[in-house]
Amino acid sequence: MRCISITVGPRTVDAVVVFAPGESIRTCSVPDLPVRAIALMPGLRGHRCDNGAGLTFAQELADTEVAHLLEHVAVELMALAGSPDTLAGQTTWDFHRDGRGVFHVLIDYDDDLVAMGALTEAVPIVGWLCGPGDDAHEAPPDVRATVARLRELRRRRSLPDAPTA
Ligand SMILES: [Zn+2]
Repeated sequence: MRCISITVGPRTVDAVVVFAPGESIRTCSVPDLPVRAIALMPGLRGHRCDNGAGLTFAQELADTEVAHLLEHVAVELMALAGSPDTLAGQTTWDFHRDGRGVFHVLIDYDDDLVAMGALTEAVPIVGWLCGPGDDAHEAPPDVRATVARLRELRRRRSLPDAPTA
């Protein structure tokens, strides 16, 4: 999975994410992915998701698009770094128009650089979650360090932290 471009709109950044042939594009083809995702980023459990089926994101995790997981990981990274947790995302695709395995991941932002940073940082995290799940083979991503980088970026951009509930 690669992020090949990010376009900044008035309120939303639009990342184009491309899956190579043979790469998992649905989470159901990755054993244990929901458990590993929640273990790595427990905040995903509380995510709401407008999926029309009344499912929470945690329930949807077992069988959804990997690009949709990328969206939620990016939004969670932003929230952990102090962005308003009202910012949401959306994942769309039109394989007929764009080609098979091409997704658009749209993220609302209060700061475009932070949203782009979160998307870029989310790619290797989701790549690891879709990998063999062997910690000895590849160390888990350092989410804490990622969040610290994004928080520092917010600080340098002089953005206030969202009030904690
Ligand atoms: Zn969702």
